[in-house]
Amino acid sequence: MAKTDGRGITPQSEDFSAWYNELVVRAELADHGPVRGTMVIRPYGYRIWELLSGELDRLIKASGHENAYFPLFIPESHLRREAEHVEGFSPELAIVTHAGGEELEEPLVVRPTSETVVGEMYARWIDSYRDLPVKINQWANVVRWELRPRLFLRTTEFLWQEGHTAHATEQDAVAEMMVAADFYRELAEDFAAMPVLVGDKTPSERFAGAVRTVSLEAMMRDGRALQAATSHYLGTNFARAFGIDYTGIDGVRTFCHTSSWGMSTRMVGGVIMTHGDDRGLVLPPKIAPYQVVIVPIGKEAELGPVSAAADALAAELTDKGVRVTVDSRAHVSAGFKFNEWELRGVPVRIELGPRDLAAGTVVVVDRLTGVKTPVAAAAAAPTMPARLDGFQRVLFEQARKFRDSRSVRVDTLDQLVEAVATGFAYAFICEDPACEKKVQERTGATPRCVPADGPDESGPCVVCGGASGYGRRLVFGRAY
Ligand SMILES: [Zn+2]
Repeated sequence: MAKTDGRGITPQSEDFSAWYNELVVRAELADHGPVRGTMVIRPYGYRIWELLSGELDRLIKASGHENAYFPLFIPESHLRREAEHVEGFSPELAIVTHAGGEELEEPLVVRPTSETVVGEMYARWIDSYRDLPVKINQWANVVRWELRPRLFLRTTEFLWQEGHTAHATEQDAVAEMMVAADFYRELAEDFAAMPVLVGDKTPSERFAGAVRTVSLEAMMRDGRALQAATSHYLGTNFARAFGIDYTGIDGVRTFCHTSSWGMSTRMVGGVIMTHGDDRGLVLPPKIAPYQVVIVPIGKEAELGPVSAAADALAAELTDKGVRVTVDSRAHVSAGFKFNEWELRGVPVRIELGPRDLAAGTVVVVDRLTGVKTPVAAAAAAPTMPARLDGFQRVLFEQARKFRDSRSVRVDTLDQLVEAVATGFAYAFICEDPACEKKVQERTGATPRCVPADGPDESGPCVVCGGASGYGRRLVFGRAY
């Protein structure tokens, strides 16, 4: 249990960053590891990750992928085979030079991602068009050295899944990239209640070594963007670097087209910052470790029957498929328990005291609104699944409205500067990376994506006035 001492946390409006840092630790989601930048994910935070990753794993398997595991260490020379890839990752690499009491002949890189080791193995496994496609996913940890770490958002070691696929044609590999983007969208919107914009990255924002990167961008409560997941079409870049090729029906040796895609523990940070409020976390029911907490109330002498009723209700809720806990801690006041479970974001609290018991009712309290509703005890469990569904929908709608209220179409750089101070700006920009750079230097904002469902439009670049590229407005925002 959290060592809450009656103090609240810093309000979001006062200092969003302090709010986040305090909340992650106080709600017992995670803590700082002994090595700077590392993260200990505590059971409550890990359960959220399990619920998210479990659902994603289901989606991955349902779309015809299989799980496998590749090694943590990668020979340094392998990483160098794809030039852009190594250039993109080299500042973040952790490299092992000694092992077994000796200096190694070749240093080993701790994987920052696994394209290279997967490529090496796919080159061995793929020989004929009959071997294609290969669609493998792995759940793993990766290491990217962080100079400005933040729990869940940027940690030196993090957990993720990385899908790696090889295909005969560009068309198949691009379709695969979109399949992955689709299940990330489903996970974000239907489970995390996090509305996302999906679209291509501009060339300067792409994954190192990719031909196309599609990202999912969400808006946090401070108006900043969070990249929730990415999916890449790698062309034949890695296939050429590692020799992933196949003999076609026509007998011609051809390079494969590959894709990769990933979602990480950063998503947990996104959930916190999409839904949290001044009282703490607000968890979407589908990924809440506890969807309901029952707090028995009363003096010790009266607690016997109240506790028995609470346990019976918990059993009934469990039967309905609801994740529930009973907070029967002695010597902790009811008010303290209420605050603590609000801090930890449990969607619904049920209060049950001797008077409720006598009247055959319970009090149901909604975490979002704080509204207390007396409900017949017999109806509490049967109506709970629908109540939780409603909570999930309201949470998504609230986040979507918030994002839309802070998204502005702009036509000048000055308007863009103003808009990205509090949210997203939709603006035209040309394809010259120098113009993106100017926006970033002036505002800290970058093009988050070319929204796939945006209307086709054209207009002058907000920086140079030149012809807009991309055929539509890009979403700009300051990103985590
Ligand atoms: Zn321009």
